[in-house]
Amino acid sequence: MKIKDVKTVLKGMTLSELKNYFISIGEPPFRSEQVFNWMYNHHADDFRQMENLPKSLRNKLAETAELFTLKTVDSEISGSTGTKKYVFSAGEKNFIESVIIPESKRNTLCISTQAGCPLDCKFCATGLMGFKKNLTAGEIIDQYILAAKDYGREKISNIVYMGMGEPLLNYTAVLSSLEIFSDELTTGISLKKITVSTAGIAPKITELADSGLKAKIAFSLHSCFDDIRDRIMPINKKYPLQKNIEALKYYSRTTGTRITFEYVMLKGINDRKEDINALVKLCSSIPSKINLIPFNSLKHMNPGGISADLEPTSQQRIEEFADKLRSKNITVMVRFTQGDDIAAACGQLAVNY
Ligand code: SAH
Repeated sequence: MKIKDVKTVLKGMTLSELKNYFISIGEPPFRSEQVFNWMYNHHADDFRQMENLPKSLRNKLAETAELFTLKTVDSEISGSTGTKKYVFSAGEKNFIESVIIPESKRNTLCISTQAGCPLDCKFCATGLMGFKKNLTAGEIIDQYILAAKDYGREKISNIVYMGMGEPLLNYTAVLSSLEIFSDELTTGISLKKITVSTAGIAPKITELADSGLKAKIAFSLHSCFDDIRDRIMPINKKYPLQKNIEALKYYSRTTGTRITFEYVMLKGINDRKEDINALVKLCSSIPSKINLIPFNSLKHMNPGGISADLEPTSQQRIEEFADKLRSKNITVMVRFTQGDDIAAACGQLAVNY
């Protein structure tokens, strides 16, 4: 559907959507593959670059279609770690952030799926800023394209959907973006290197398993107990742990992937002996690994309620906690916090533009 004077946004279309588009404007369907290739493999931002299209078609597209979705507003690089943060604008007054996290063997791009977030997790800065809007598939993909153009496409090896927002509450757009990454014509990043992180929207985890797109899933667990999850992650009241665990088991079985449990270490809340026992029980029941994440304080935001009381677990206790889990044959990573100095660390992606 095209409204008068509004250009059709091509970025974000899957191959079959592009095919339908070219048929609708009276062009042969094979043009879709050419444009797909230019947009997603060569990161073209101007129809004039698409040399294998006839000039008349390039002109027609320039008049009626659009290749841009996001605009780069700012970027900042951390002197200490090399973490690079981008601020993009997604339409009027909606700012989102993407972050490149360099590691020894890989560089991971962390992308957003919503401007703001409706979930209100008590430990997360994005939660504190509230919900603005769902991103379109084009706006999700464009974060990769703009970052790849700036940073070097070959240097970005992994993508995590762990920026602002809850991916599974923007399911259709997230699914289209995964479909584009997984298309055999896309030469970029395979789904094996893509992780979708969720706070636990159980029915959508099941739906994603049935989609046939085998991305990895990270589940923001943070506690094995419903009463604690209810307090720090209000979404747990709607989709309690048991429902999510059943969906994750189904996901792991259907896709043959291992689930990553993310676990932000909160002093006195989820770092106790009973938490270790519950984690061992849970992880033994499902192919999985645990990422222990040091809590990045929200004090700079002066939050109210329970958020004001949250404290990080000490580094020593995190190591102890990890060792106890490892002694029970659980795979544990302790995530090292990056990007604090540019407010690009986990849970700090809230922009004050
Ligand atoms: N809504 C999705 C994706 C965004 S959050 C989800 O909840 O999974 C991505 C990760 O950052 C999650 O594991 C989240 O729990 C973690 N995180 C959020 N706030 C944090 C904080 N203050 N310190 C450390 N990690 C945090």
